[in-house]
Amino acid sequence: MIDILIIFGAIGLTAQAFIGLSFLLSCIWEKEPRASLFALLQFIGMMIVLAAYLILAWIGFFETTIGTGLLFGGYLFAGLAVFLLIKRSRPNPKALSGTKDMIVGEVKRFDERETLFSRTGSLRPGSKQYKAFYAEHPEYKVFDDARRAQGGPMGHAGAIDRPHGDVNVAMMMASSNLPTYLSDPDKVKPEPHFTLKQELAKKKVTISPEEASERVKGYAKMLGAQLVGIAELNQLWMYSHRGRVFKHNWEDWGKKISVTHRYAIVFAEEMSLDMIGPAPHTPTSMESMKNYAKGAYIAVQVAAFIANLGYSATANHFRYYEGLMVPLAVDAGLGEMSRMGYLLTKDFGPRIRLSAVTTDIPLIPDRPVDIGAEDFCRLCKKCAVCCPSQSIPMGDQVEVNGTLRWKLNEQTCYEYWGKIGTDCNICMRICPWSHARTFPHRLIMAMITRNALARRLFSFMDDIFYGKKPKTKDPPQWARFKSPTHL
Ligand code: SF4
Ligand code: SF4
Repeated sequence: MIDILIIFGAIGLTAQAFIGLSFLLSCIWEKEPRASLFALLQFIGMMIVLAAYLILAWIGFFETTIGTGLLFGGYLFAGLAVFLLIKRSRPNPKALSGTKDMIVGEVKRFDERETLFSRTGSLRPGSKQYKAFYAEHPEYKVFDDARRAQGGPMGHAGAIDRPHGDVNVAMMMASSNLPTYLSDPDKVKPEPHFTLKQELAKKKVTISPEEASERVKGYAKMLGAQLVGIAELNQLWMYSHRGRVFKHNWEDWGKKISVTHRYAIVFAEEMSLDMIGPAPHTPTSMESMKNYAKGAYIAVQVAAFIANLGYSATANHFRYYEGLMVPLAVDAGLGEMSRMGYLLTKDFGPRIRLSAVTTDIPLIPDRPVDIGAEDFCRLCKKCAVCCPSQSIPMGDQVEVNGTLRWKLNEQTCYEYWGKIGTDCNICMRICPWSHARTFPHRLIMAMITRNALARRLFSFMDDIFYGKKPKTKDPPQWARFKSPTHL
């Protein structure tokens, strides 16, 4: 009996050392010097414990009364620790209800004209829309005029890396062309392909909701979406009026948005760690733009696919939104809303960009998920600590427009964007949920998404291994910018 316990003890400690080694290799691969050092120390500690155990077993210590007591004590401790860290904690009913339980008061649909990007990116000084808007909203005028004088919503593009980052800025802006091209009405609200039009005029393709859901998800993934979910559309998350204009289509500005579709299919595209690592420098915006372009490509093609079955569909992407992507994604089961306001997903944390298609084709909606993000964010606060403009709240959730959530100060966040000329993304880079999904990080995510104690332990460990304010990383050689200004 004791022999078997000794052998299983050795197997257990070897497995633990193997996980320690895999974490060390992961940190080296992630190019995290601080985490690599701590992982090395941790691994050396594990090897010392394993070696001591083997020596004690070899000299027969575990056959003595004290040794047997220690062996049983070790089993008890290890068993209890594993049990406490992997048992499923009480579910969060708020997360499982999606955005429904976030609503605590009267919610007014948001007017796209009031977004900073519409105000400072679309409105032309002196135009009739400009005069009409500021007559109704004089509170924005001083801020917006100052922002316009700085060069628009993002200020002088790539300012933080100029003059050396000009090449990156050229790449960053190149990716914004595709979404603009794909914002034409025939792309975002497609008609069936001309070869199918006649037969579809007679009859739509008959397809069950189960099959339609499976096909739509499969097609979107084939096109490059990493995550796809379906939500029953909540009209509250649709804008009330159009506000963004890119192609002089001023007749669109101020148009009422009325969406009769019943479903939203939401897509998430992963942002690469290599490109997010240098945030807030230009590579991070190159990656954002690339994923906005990818999102537009996916949304427009999925909308065209649905139109070719005879149903109505509207693509929502970087250059054409009819609604707010994050609440739709929460309802579609892709993740939970975080302290920083981004969606937190189990697979990529906040390292994603979202796009969507609203449609009337019958589908099977997915269920919202409880991945422990709200609980983790309550403890963590790392994004709030690291945000250079203090735009992320340190405190509790508050009621905003009838919803209970953490409220980012968009004004100060965008002000910082304006200074540096990129979309910053420091909060995305430093979030503990953003780590590469290597084997040890997958293991950690599996624990923190189900267990409250693991969330406390790993939120604390993240600060130890990666630091309270993780440093900016170098970009890939091809995306270099000289004279980097570190945080
Ligand atoms: S950094 Fe922490 S608090 Fe902020 S979103 Fe990520 S997990 Fe939540
Ligand atoms: S993008 Fe930058 S400035 Fe904005 S909230 Fe995140 S860290 Fe703060």
